[in-house]
Amino acid sequence: MKLSGGGIILLLILAVVFKVNPLSLLEQTGGLEGGPVDGGAPLTEEQQRLADFASIILASTEDVWTSEFEKMGLQYEKPSMVLFTGSTRSGCGFASSQVGPFYCPADSNVYLDLSFFDEMSRRFRAPGDFAQAYVIAHEVGHHVQNLLGISSQVHRAQQRVGEVEGNQLSVRLELQADFLAGMWARHEQERFGSLEEGDIEEALRAANAIGDDTLQKQAQGHVVPDAFTHGTSEQRMRWFMKGFKGETFDPENTFNARDL
Ligand SMILES: [Zn+2]
Repeated sequence: MKLSGGGIILLLILAVVFKVNPLSLLEQTGGLEGGPVDGGAPLTEEQQRLADFASIILASTEDVWTSEFEKMGLQYEKPSMVLFTGSTRSGCGFASSQVGPFYCPADSNVYLDLSFFDEMSRRFRAPGDFAQAYVIAHEVGHHVQNLLGISSQVHRAQQRVGEVEGNQLSVRLELQADFLAGMWARHEQERFGSLEEGDIEEALRAANAIGDDTLQKQAQGHVVPDAFTHGTSEQRMRWFMKGFKGETFDPENTFNARDL
């Protein structure tokens, strides 16, 4: 991904929880907001590069969603990003890196495990900057769902239904986050023309690589559809592309769809 254009703000404040001395981190990132920092190894060069890249993508999502919310007559409240390695405490409880990247509605933070990106390129064969950007945009998609009240509606509905139906609602929420990531990618392209050939394929390969069916096949050798909470790889790709191709966003889109 080529980063050009005035809209991308390089310096933004990160809420950072690294296992590193806060002062050395402050020097590395140029800013630090909140979060206890455990002692431990300083960032590797690669982790620092990922941290910088993640902050650029977060800033880009802020530009896009600020203007999208304005169109809806709403004000976009920016999420904070917490970068961690190993494990972290969040408003949603303790998280180990096995969880992967996640969004916590309780504290409006996007949590990114830097080692996940390393793993993504090695284990899932989905290397490339845009694949990482897609993962961040997906988590920011959950923040958008939170601000629009979609997540809380889904969670209320889940309390009234059984596990299988509850998982299906989770899948719809996840696929909508993929749609929102696709919307971000389209705006990024329209505004900055920063996507290079192969970027979309990279993102889709990542979506494919982290689809529930692929993960479950790797873990157990077979798939259990009722336990899906993210949708199949094919579904994730399709909903990302809908957003990317400019389909109008409707908060009900994945919830009303007969065929996901
Ligand atoms: Zn998700």
